[in-house]
Amino acid sequence: MSTNSPERIKCLIIGSGPAGYTAAIYASRANLAPVLYTGKEVGGQLTITNDVENYPGYPDGVMGPQMMEDFKKQAIRFGTDVRYEMIEKVDFSGPLHKIWSETGHEIHADSVIISTGASAKWLGIPSEQKLMNKGVSACAVCDGFFFRGQDVAIVGAGDTAAEESTYLAKLCRTVHLLVRRDEMRASKIMQDRVMNTPNLIVHWNTETEEILGEEGVEGVRIRNNKTQEVSTLDVSGFFVAIGHKPNTDIFAGWLDMDDNKYLKVEPGRSLTDVKGVFVSGDAADHIYRQAVTAAGTGCMAALDAERYLSEHGFI
Ligand code: NDP
Repeated sequence: MSTNSPERIKCLIIGSGPAGYTAAIYASRANLAPVLYTGKEVGGQLTITNDVENYPGYPDGVMGPQMMEDFKKQAIRFGTDVRYEMIEKVDFSGPLHKIWSETGHEIHADSVIISTGASAKWLGIPSEQKLMNKGVSACAVCDGFFFRGQDVAIVGAGDTAAEESTYLAKLCRTVHLLVRRDEMRASKIMQDRVMNTPNLIVHWNTETEEILGEEGVEGVRIRNNKTQEVSTLDVSGFFVAIGHKPNTDIFAGWLDMDDNKYLKVEPGRSLTDVKGVFVSGDAADHIYRQAVTAAGTGCMAALDAERYLSEHGFI
């Protein structure tokens, strides 16, 4: 969409995961006439997952992309204007928030809800893409259950890898943790947990050469980068836990962020350091990262936006 004069709206929502759509449902039902820009990955991270079994209300589970379609339908039903475009630039210097889409359309919004999420980092090897959702996952909490009683591998050495490998060890028979250096970056307490889990085997100085299998994971070929020895682990699941990157680049310089570029919010709220700009979902959450927590904070952001707009006489 591209017009010459700026479009004035009450509420702009950026992002189309559970956080963005939930914010849209609440904002549209509160008569804020929200406009939602989906971004490049319409539906967010759940569209690269298969079965979602831990979202309340779906007793038989639901496919991630289907769930996001349902969220979107519900937002549209109450009047959300969904646009399939990226937001490219923002200017939060004044009371009226200026935003530009990738086609150059300029929006002036009284309130903005950021739900741009985060993206898992991947190793970047071809077999990882090929077997994504066929045994390769970046979320142990989401997908570990499917590998109950089986042998799996997980790569990473930070707190996420430590947490997810110990989580997997409770479900799986054996967990192989692949660490590329001779030490982990994870905090001492998390490392202690890793070392004290009997069915968790740490492979030091180990890199992933290839994930094996055609229609599902059948093993992983690893290389010890000290000895150059190559070997194969028989596993049916492969988890990547090498960090996430919050999608917050366009807000740099405008909003307060932590060292890892997650947006900072007032504790227990959705408020950023700029009045009228709210954040929900993984863009501000490196801890929980669940669809249900993202949806919850999407609701909070819409309620906070509604309150802000009414307190400041915008509605
Ligand atoms: P981190 O960036 O802390 O760690 C990423 C890890 O992945 C590093 O150890 C890195 O290895 C490894 N890695 C990166 N690329 C590759 C690769 N290509 N191959 C193999 N290994 C690779 O990310 P986390 O997600 O673990 O944590 C992010 C932040 O969230 C941290 O601040 C963490 O403390 C925090 N956190 C806190 C938790 C808690 O308190 N309960 C739980 C989870 C996260 P290397 O060390 O060699 O660079």
